[in-house]
Amino acid sequence: MAPRRIGVLGGTFDPVHNAHLVAAVDARHGARLDTVLLVVANVPWQKAGGRAVTPAEDRFALVEAVVADVEGLEASRLEIDRGGESYTADTIEELDAAEPDAELFVIVGADIIGRLDTWKRIDDLRRRAGLIVVNRPGIIGGFSDEGWAHGIQIVDIPGLAISGTDIRSRLVAGRPVDGLVPPAALRLIRDRGLYAGPG
Ligand code: ATP
Ligand code: MG
Repeated sequence: MAPRRIGVLGGTFDPVHNAHLVAAVDARHGARLDTVLLVVANVPWQKAGGRAVTPAEDRFALVEAVVADVEGLEASRLEIDRGGESYTADTIEELDAAEPDAELFVIVGADIIGRLDTWKRIDDLRRRAGLIVVNRPGIIGGFSDEGWAHGIQIVDIPGLAISGTDIRSRLVAGRPVDGLVPPAALRLIRDRGLYAGPG
């Protein structure tokens, strides 16, 4: 039997949005992955300290609600259950130990590429995984990362200038986010009163 091919799309998902969904399903299709895990960061160490991050359980609930309707996508609590700061290298190590025969692929948007060298234990990660890069509007270029166990693949997605940052500021300002955030997530945002602006 062919080894299972598992993609890992890690993120803060604060909140999950349609570009995350497109990235995940196109990476799954383009790289012939069996499953894509949307791994919700517990403490996104590159972001913590800068701004208030929404509680991990809320961010996870939004992702879980969204993937329920999409074949081949799963919400993963690995990093939340592990606790502490979230490093993709630890996550890949854990997945690798649980399923040694599987082929693991880290999926990132093009904005992440230039920062990969700052990731904890990036060499460990490269040894165990492949890399899948999806394009992101405003990001051009140019990377020369080598040494990924299962190579690097570019997956071309329709450019979607959607970001968590923009969605948060829209919600705070009372502006609409329909079409940017999947309805299942938007319902939960309203129910839980997340990202509410003053007053
Ligand atoms: P924030 O603005 O808070 O950083 P974000 O929209 O970048 O939010 P993240 O949770 O930081 O969302 O991103 C998770 C992953 O999804 C990253 O690999 C990121 O590059 C990718 N991603 C997010 N938005 C897009 C997009 N519009 N196009 C392509 N990839 C994206
Ligand atoms: Mg981001």
